[in-house]
Order: sequence, then C-alpha cells, then structure tokens
Amino acid sequence: MAVQCVTVFCASSRKSSEKYIQGTIELADILFANNIAVRYGGGAVGLMGCLADRIIEKGGNITGIIPEFMVKVEWAHPQVKDMIVVHDMHERKKLLIHNTDAVIALPGGTGTLEELMEVLTLKRLGKFLKPIVLLNLDGFYDQLIGFFNTMVKEHFIRHEHLNIYSVVEKPCDVLSAINNQPFWDEGALNRAPV
Ligand code: AMP
Repeated sequence: MAVQCVTVFCASSRKSSEKYIQGTIELADILFANNIAVRYGGGAVGLMGCLADRIIEKGGNITGIIPEFMVKVEWAHPQVKDMIVVHDMHERKKLLIHNTDAVIALPGGTGTLEELMEVLTLKRLGKFLKPIVLLNLDGFYDQLIGFFNTMVKEHFIRHEHLNIYSVVEKPCDVLSAINNQPFWDEGALNRAPV
C-alpha cells in the first residue's frame, strides 16, 4: 500500500548546518509531492522548524506532537495548526509512531537518537513493524552504523537485526527505501534474543 503518513525525527539545534537544512528541505518537498502527511516533534527551530516551515509553505499536511512543558517555554511551532499537546516525552514518542507508515531519521542530537533507538528496539521486539530509514546526510550516521556492526560482531544483536533499518544517502532515495524494506512481523520477538 502507498505510504500515506511518515514520522520524521530530527534536530532542534538552531546551529544545524546548511547541508542538513538543504537535505531537510529536499525531503519535505518529496513528501509533499507524494501527498504524504508528516508527523514530527512540533518544534519551531532547527531541522524540525525547517521541515515544518517547508511543508506549511507548500500547503502540505503536518502534525506536531509536543509535550506541554515545551509549549510553556514556547517551543511549539506557532504555524502548525495540527498540534497535539501531550503530557510528557514518553507519550510523545508513543504517539509519534502510532499508526505511522514509516519512520525517517534525519541528523540530530540526543533527542533524535533517543527516539531512533526506541523505535529500533521496538521493531527488534516485534512491537513496531514499519520501515525505518536513516537519512545519512553527509555521512552523519556513519559512526552509528559502524557501532551497529560492532554490536553484531560482539554478538549483542544478530546480523539479521541490521535489516531493522535501511540507510540512504540522499532524500530522493527515501521513498524507495521505505517501499523496499524487508517484511517484518511480530515473529521478530522470537528472533530478538542472541
Ligand atoms: P535533538 O535531536 O537533541 O535536537 O532533539 C530533538 C528533540 O529534542 C525533539 O524531539 C524534542 O524532544 C527536543 N527538543 C529540544 N529542543 C527543542 C526545541 N527548541 N523545540 C522543540 N523540541 C526540542
């Protein structure tokens, strides 16, 4: 079935460099052109802000999910009309991936990494079954990918767990990566232990 909604994890940093900003804008354009609704963390700055600004500028569909403590410090994007305010970070992460068709991770800091690690772990356990794509702009995720390989080598995860995600270097390859990711089912739970 065609992808209708994706979740994007990405940086909040105001100092995100131009190469990542350009990649984020390109991704936003591709999602809009394919009529795909976007779900994200609801922020107004960094790559989160770029993503939302571009989707809004194009007239696309974007939903923000943000904890109330961030709304209080005025971190919520004021132009995102569809903003869901949740109690805490846990509820936000749960809702971000609920009923989504795929997850895309752009470069980011600890927040992005935490969201990514949770969804990778849920997929390993068969509790999240949708495609997960790392958009490896300018090789940002190379060291993390290397670390996953070390985990395989040291028998902390299985080699087949590398199929939990795919890696693409360019925004134009994201949708084909989503569509071609190996089928994953709840039986993953039986294959989770090493
Ligand atoms: P990071 O990748 O560390 O920038 O984290 C992105 C995540 O950080 C978001 O999903 C939020 O949980 C949180 N966050 C940090 N700063 C902000 C901000 N200014 N606006 C919105 N969310 C933020």
